[in-house]
Amino acid sequence: MRTNWAGSHTYAATDLVTPGSVAELQALVAGSPRIRALGSRHSFTDLADTDGVQVSLDGLASEIEFGEGSVRVSAGIRYGDLAAALVPRGLALANLASLPHISVAGAVATGTHGSGRRNGSLATSVRALELVDGRGELVRLSGEELAGTVVGLGALGIVTAVELAVEPAFEISQVVHEGLAWSTLLERLDEVLGCAYSVSVFTRWTGEEVGQVWVKAKVSPGFEPVEIPGAHPASEQVHMIAGMDLENTTAQLGVAGPWHDRLPHFRMGFLPSAGEELQTEYFVPFERASDALEAVRALGAEFGDTLLVTELRTVAGDGLWLSGAYGGDVLAIHFTWRRDRERVDALVALIEEALRPYGARPHWGKVFGARADVLAPLYPRWDDFRALATRMDPDGRFRNAWTARHLGTEAESRS
Ligand SMILES: Cc1cc2nc3c(=O)[nH]c(=O)nc-3n(C[C@H](O)[C@H](O)[C@H](O)COP(=O)(O)OP(=O)(O)OC[C@H]3O[C@@H](n4cnc5c(N)ncnc54)[C@H](O)[C@@H]3O)c2cc1C
Repeated sequence: MRTNWAGSHTYAATDLVTPGSVAELQALVAGSPRIRALGSRHSFTDLADTDGVQVSLDGLASEIEFGEGSVRVSAGIRYGDLAAALVPRGLALANLASLPHISVAGAVATGTHGSGRRNGSLATSVRALELVDGRGELVRLSGEELAGTVVGLGALGIVTAVELAVEPAFEISQVVHEGLAWSTLLERLDEVLGCAYSVSVFTRWTGEEVGQVWVKAKVSPGFEPVEIPGAHPASEQVHMIAGMDLENTTAQLGVAGPWHDRLPHFRMGFLPSAGEELQTEYFVPFERASDALEAVRALGAEFGDTLLVTELRTVAGDGLWLSGAYGGDVLAIHFTWRRDRERVDALVALIEEALRPYGARPHWGKVFGARADVLAPLYPRWDDFRALATRMDPDGRFRNAWTARHLGTEAESRS
């Protein structure tokens, strides 16, 4: 029995195949009526599943080629392993998610992001993609072709290699602030979330105090520690989930360190988050963020102990068709839940209702309820994406139960 990382979904795929070359992968795709790429298994639903075969890229040679301002990597590489190759060359990625354990291809396929008022999602670092499409052909996509293809949900092909933008390495100082009042956060949201390179707010929604503000500041000459009105720096290392092991978290207390060891909250090789959990996240336009927060806060008492913690982050707007940040900057409102699917589904329905007036888009890799008819109006390029998927996958090999529910592909499915 194979499950996803959180143990919340048991894969129904008949087999997990590990091709040893791109040519083998092409033949596999061409000969499989149903097939789906599997990354590091960190999505929470049946998104990566299929009633045919799943493909792992672990058998393909792990290549890293350095170019001018970019690096070309095998798609299945994890961010932590990529960072280990970039650091000795004095290079960095612009941003990382909360954990370095996830694969590059799986992360960008779902619009995975970190935080930062001026930082785009991880998908915005992609400069080129190489993928095996639904006809078994290997294609390279770059420039304007990327807008529709990077956040591709595994529905366009199996990505074999990714070219990512890199920049000179930098250091980050991470300080957690406590004691922030909700009233201050709501009045000064842009100031608090924009006070450093990457900022995350953790809350359980109840009481007058918000919780923790994780401030990741770029260390530069003349760098001054950040101050947040009414809050104070924590005096010891903390975890955002009460009772979890502090050893799992990256160093805080203002000790400067390399980008890859401070931008994620969790250390490679250690347990990220809680483990047995579910996650949900919605993106709302930043200009409506305070109102959206008030709407969710009104539900705070409902969450009870099903909610482990909420994280608030920001993502800069982009032009990627299915990105949560398509067309403008967003606030990302995230929930880490206990692994109680029935209760979580009920809470997700409440949250989606409360956030509907704000045009909230869900994180594709997490648990959400909205079906294709509700989602379509939220993405101006929705029909273009569906048409692209039909062109790149004319026989529907990459379709699955998830795409039927959330992209509305069932009418075109063959089974
Ligand atoms: C503990 C934890 C923390 C997380 N933190 C964050 C966070 O900070 N920010 C955030 O935005 N998200 C976060 N996530 C969500 C996570 O980043 C996404 O679910 C992401 O898709 C996981 O990548 P994966 O490789 O594990 O994907 P999988 O679950 O393996 O697959 C996800 C999708 O990607 C597709 N895919 C995978 N590989 C390929 C490929 N080679 N070619 C084409 N398609 C492919 C799959 O078919 C599937 O559709 C977190 C998840 C966990 C479990």
